[in-house]
Amino acid sequence: MWQEAATTDVMDERLITELRNIAPTKAAEPLSRHTTFGIGGPADAFVTVRSSQELSRVVMMTREFAAPLFVLGSGSNVLIGDRGIRGVVIDNQAKSWRVTPLHLGEDSPVAMPAAFKDVPPDECMTLWCESGASFAALARQMARDGFAGIEWAAGIPGTLGGAVVYNAGAYEGCIADVLLATSLLTGSNGVKSMTNAEMQFSYRNSIFTHGACETCVVLSVELVLRRGDANTLLAKIIEFDRARLAAQPRGRNSGSTFKNPTGDNAWRLIDAVGLRGHRIGDAKISEKHTNFIENIGAARAADVAALMRDAQRRVKEQFGIDLEPEVELVGEGFE
Ligand SMILES: Cc1cc2nc3c(=O)[nH]c(=O)nc-3n(C[C@H](O)[C@H](O)[C@H](O)COP(=O)(O)OP(=O)(O)OC[C@H]3O[C@@H](n4cnc5c(N)ncnc54)[C@H](O)[C@@H]3O)c2cc1C
Repeated sequence: MWQEAATTDVMDERLITELRNIAPTKAAEPLSRHTTFGIGGPADAFVTVRSSQELSRVVMMTREFAAPLFVLGSGSNVLIGDRGIRGVVIDNQAKSWRVTPLHLGEDSPVAMPAAFKDVPPDECMTLWCESGASFAALARQMARDGFAGIEWAAGIPGTLGGAVVYNAGAYEGCIADVLLATSLLTGSNGVKSMTNAEMQFSYRNSIFTHGACETCVVLSVELVLRRGDANTLLAKIIEFDRARLAAQPRGRNSGSTFKNPTGDNAWRLIDAVGLRGHRIGDAKISEKHTNFIENIGAARAADVAALMRDAQRRVKEQFGIDLEPEVELVGEGFE
């Protein structure tokens, strides 16, 4: 029964019953099990959806009860507070995908991304996938199948939904370079297809981060790929893997902590203020890459947040630069 939940004040028993009728729902699920940091207190209700239909139904039901809602992808770009998240957390396991020949009708609002303008249409494919699909797994699968365009994503450990929100990118690419359209569930429960231009992508930003679409949920995306040679593509991925391994720590972390300020690198600034290896509790600024914070044991969100504040304060004092977090702080309990 719902009484096992940590808090029940924002949760309605009837909502829990309705959610359980749609998809598996757990009470007081520790979110540390679902983030790459291994940090995060409990979710009041944790609902695992396996298709975009289930995703839509859970979102709509939660809205009907006016309960708080958070959509979690792979939890690789979030720091969840030690007291967790109130309301409903959706564990997005909607992972279907398919590749089809590209067909853009003459009056289609969808435009080809610039990098594909000169590629003959019959060499292009559309990759449609649900928003809970793993970007890294798809990048590797596409390379194996001889489809080029997203090899750079093979080391990004998130879902396509999370990738769209932050315009995820690495090395030579970002999702904006290959995105044709995004299907969204809007705040008023309509389904809307947004073109690449409408998503307003820039460095680690989109309409989501601009606050223009905060209540929308990504249901699925369509990417454009081109035919390529599988061996060449796989060799490229091996190179990217090597570069990542050489530059970044393994273990529990959340990737880059701060966005790079224009014309500089966050890691350089953090290093320059003497924070390499600096530790609070079990949270540590990585020796290998100073824009990564590692959970080296039982770090709390409060420890990571304190390290982030230290880095921001010192960089501001010494360089006059405001470091903007790339990792998103969600929920309660950062003090
Ligand atoms: C080791 C490591 C390396 C990394 N390297 C890179 C890198 O090279 N480049 C890069 O860009 N990032 C990198 N990241 C960060 C992270 O992997 C990306 O930002 C990723 O795209 C986040 O996806 P996610 O599914 O984990 O999102 P989450 O962390 O689960 O969520 C992030 C945000 O997206 C929202 N969201 C997720 N799914 C949806 C949806 N369906 N609809 C609406 N909102 C949604 C969440 O509500 C939350 O606000 C790295 C992280 C790690 C741990």
